[in-house]
Amino acid sequence: MKAFVLAERSDAARELCAGARTVADEVVLVAVGDMEVPAACADKVLHVALPEGAVFDDAADTVIAAFDAEQPGAVFAEPTKHVKVVAGKLAAHAGASVITDVIAFDGDVATNMYFGGVGQKQQKAAGSVAFYTVGAGVFAEAEASGANATEELAWVAPAKAVKLVSSKPIEKSGVDLFKADVVVAAGRGFAEKDELKLADDLCEKLGAGLGCSRPLTEGVDWLPTEVYIGVSGLMLSPKVYVACGISGQMQHMVGCNRAGALFAINKDKNAPIFKQCDYGLVGDIKTVLPALTAAL
Ligand SMILES: Cc1cc2nc3c(=O)[nH]c(=O)nc-3n(C[C@H](O)[C@H](O)[C@H](O)COP(=O)(O)OP(=O)(O)OC[C@H]3O[C@@H](n4cnc5c(N)ncnc54)[C@H](O)[C@@H]3O)c2cc1C
Repeated sequence: MKAFVLAERSDAARELCAGARTVADEVVLVAVGDMEVPAACADKVLHVALPEGAVFDDAADTVIAAFDAEQPGAVFAEPTKHVKVVAGKLAAHAGASVITDVIAFDGDVATNMYFGGVGQKQQKAAGSVAFYTVGAGVFAEAEASGANATEELAWVAPAKAVKLVSSKPIEKSGVDLFKADVVVAAGRGFAEKDELKLADDLCEKLGAGLGCSRPLTEGVDWLPTEVYIGVSGLMLSPKVYVACGISGQMQHMVGCNRAGALFAINKDKNAPIFKQCDYGLVGDIKTVLPALTAAL
């Protein structure tokens, strides 16, 4: 069986190729734009060069043409917003359904989350092509391999191209949350934007990356949407995760519950996060965080 891997980030491409290798005889990575292709990760790399002005999502028709030519039996997709657009169109073209948010595989049985992470289900893909979106860490133990024989795909112009209306640079903290050993995450326990300085100071001491729960991005816009963690955001597996002022709703926790050690700081001793963390500290972030930063 042949497997397609669709990814936007190099690390995700490597991990998904490694995972695809556990079930497929041939692994084909579709690399769109200027993604750095990981060394020796797939049998074949199909490269899609984006024409001037085109964005990742516009590559869907080119990927569909490659899919028709290659006829893979499985597609493993990184769950980013752009990859999901392409994977969704590809699945619709193939007449297949997508098993989203897979958190574990046992052979061809996938365990995935639904209802925003509240439920889990074990299922096999229906139909002739299996489509999965798979978060970081699921295939962390698998080994990628392959000769990376590279082919350039001919661009198939989309019937309706994305029209860029405006753009603004993403504020980058300088730390790649996928690569950070330690992630500090801020939640609605931070009452004002200025209080995020407390989390920043802790990050600096720990060499950590700063992430957050969704409410700190959408709505208040204190942090960019690219750094919120959870079922609809980033799914991380750092060595240490420090959740500050986060209640522990499942939609957030599925993005961090594969951390090596999960610390929680919350002023409510009954907060659900205390049932899910390895170490819990009941206290106000305004006093705990400065004390912690000073003590380190
Ligand atoms: C379909 C769907 C998808 C979703 N996807 C995501 C997702 O990907 N990621 C995500 O994060 N959310 C997601 N959500 C939202 C999610 O359900 C929660 O609403 C959100 O995670 C709550 O964020 P929070 O824990 O920061 O806020 P809250 O739930 O409001 O918790 C704030 C916590 O801070 C504590 N606190 C308050 N003040 C202090 C203080 N001074 N010191 C210490 N502790 C304090 C409180 O006791 C409380 O426990 C999704 C929701 C839906 C319906």
